Amino acid sequence: MKTYTLSNGVKMPAFGLGTFKVEAGESTYETVLNALKIGYRHIDTAMMYQNEEDVGRAIRDSKIPREEIFVTTKVVKQYQGDVSKIKADIDGSLNRLNIGYVDLLLMHWPNQKYEMNALVWSIFEDYYQQGKFRAIGVSNFQKHHLNELLKTAKVKPMVNQIECHPLLQQNAMLEYLKAHNIQMTSYGPFAKGKVFESPTIDVLNEIASHYNATVAQVIIAWGLSRDIVMIPKSVHYERLEENFNGQRLALSAKDLEKLSQLNRALRVYSDPDNNNFTE
Ligand code: NAP
Repeated sequence: MKTYTLSNGVKMPAFGLGTFKVEAGESTYETVLNALKIGYRHIDTAMMYQNEEDVGRAIRDSKIPREEIFVTTKVVKQYQGDVSKIKADIDGSLNRLNIGYVDLLLMHWPNQKYEMNALVWSIFEDYYQQGKFRAIGVSNFQKHHLNELLKTAKVKPMVNQIECHPLLQQNAMLEYLKAHNIQMTSYGPFAKGKVFESPTIDVLNEIASHYNATVAQVIIAWGLSRDIVMIPKSVHYERLEENFNGQRLALSAKDLEKLSQLNRALRVYSDPDNNNFTE
């Protein structure tokens, strides 16, 4: 399986399973177990998804050696800088997952108050130094959030997980992250289903037909060809398999060019500059 090497040398699988909106309980447990059976070795969760316990249980029950699986989680609340509450959330995620260390901890959303991001980051750095997380990073950070964070960070964020799909290709952000040696992860690769609508679907269908592949597989292969981590979510076994096999597809330069023409700078998830998720 393809991996990317983060700035601290940790290897991150280029492909994984997203678990946003996978229901807590048996649904998450079965989905993660099925994914691991198919060959997934990277699971993305978050405190907000309320399914960390079931992700952890599936990982433990799979009997796959812990070091073969890469797990990401995220915390979001900043409690106006109340350090004990922020730490309680991070400890809560570690306890719910209950898999020893966790590979990657992300700040789920930025605060518009830069000093708050800096404070949370300093707490992340402590956990990282203690070895509780093998890597730390951010999510939904715009360039201005990152530029400010980099002014005070002792440990540079290793990842930025952001919305990215054919309708929002994030070219400038990708270039910025590559220049700073920060790994980009794409979330929402199917743009909440918008990629399956006309006129985008016509172009994608045509490309998929060249390879006897599916549209989902084309999108996964497109992201991987740009050195982005792809974490599509599905609760269906056939789609988990379909998405997993998308890793094997190599698209021609001509088809990659056609895909680049689909960019509409269309955001379908929340705008990182205009929400209050950290409160
Ligand atoms: P997504 O992966 O684009 O999935 C959207 C929907 O597409 C799913 O509900 C799934 O439905 C369906 N789907 C999956 N595979 C398919 C296929 N092969 N063909 C047709 N439809 C398919 O969106 P997402 O879950 O929002 O994003 C992926 C992951 O990124 C999340 O699960 C989460 O881990 C992460 N994420 C992070 C943030 C953040 O703020 N950092 C925000 C959003 C998401 P079924 O389950 O019914 O198959």
